[in-house]
Amino acid sequence: MTTAEPTSDPTSQPSTNGHVLDVTGLRKTYESEGVPVRALRGVDFQMAAGEFVAVMGPSGCGKSTLLNLVAGLDTATDGEIVLAGESLVGKDENDLARMRRRHIGIVFQFFNLLEGMSVLENVTLPAIIAGTPRREAEGRARDLLDLLGLADKAKNAPGVLSGGQRQRLAIARALANRPTLVLADEPTGALDSAGGLEVLELFRRLHSGGQAILLVTHDQKVADAASRVVRMRDGRIEGQDDDEAASVGASESTMGTTWEP
Ligand code: ADP
Repeated sequence: MTTAEPTSDPTSQPSTNGHVLDVTGLRKTYESEGVPVRALRGVDFQMAAGEFVAVMGPSGCGKSTLLNLVAGLDTATDGEIVLAGESLVGKDENDLARMRRRHIGIVFQFFNLLEGMSVLENVTLPAIIAGTPRREAEGRARDLLDLLGLADKAKNAPGVLSGGQRQRLAIARALANRPTLVLADEPTGALDSAGGLEVLELFRRLHSGGQAILLVTHDQKVADAASRVVRMRDGRIEGQDDDEAASVGASESTMGTTWEP
């Protein structure tokens, strides 16, 4: 184990003013059958290293659009996104993919697992794609599965896992490249309450290990675990609630502690 991992030592994160994410004046307008749809109408938002932020708001208010733009999966109409000190503006698809591999781990509502591969291969693959030698990638994947309580399933196909285990596997995969920021879009949305609790507990652990997490949810229990809740409406942020207790707990537990293998 080491305390020098990027995800476990907030001071080691490349940053602007200590932020892992700086969003300024972000706008996104889609064209739908010739009609402009203003999904984001000027969003300003920052995240410090190690923060766990939940984004809530009614369907259609722009939550997924915000996550997609931060992930570099789509480009903004206007505004700026600075991720780990590097601007996403003006980057071509190759550069965006490189930044995504380096800095972002994504968790989807419906897992997006590779069903034809084993549990271990699902977690090994992202690191291999990012250029990590196979042996090292596999060692790291085994450590992650161990940590996330899935070590005994390494050789199985994802199909044998419960919903909660499948999402834990998807989270292990998102962590494979030690991302600066984990993005999650409704990660408990497809799970029963036991599976939801399992996944919620895991996010809590990651947060107390210093992992920055930006998560979209409708689930108040998930939002309650976050250190900050950002409320969106009609393409704008309409308010933010801090949970001081959660933030203090997180900063205390990051000192000298790491969940990383
Ligand atoms: P949320 O995640 O809060 O439900 P979205 O970010 O998915 O909201 O969508 C915000 C708005 O943008 C909605 O009006 C939605 O219909 C529209 N929208 C999202 N993606 C597209 C797209 N690819 N083309 C056109 N309109 C879109």
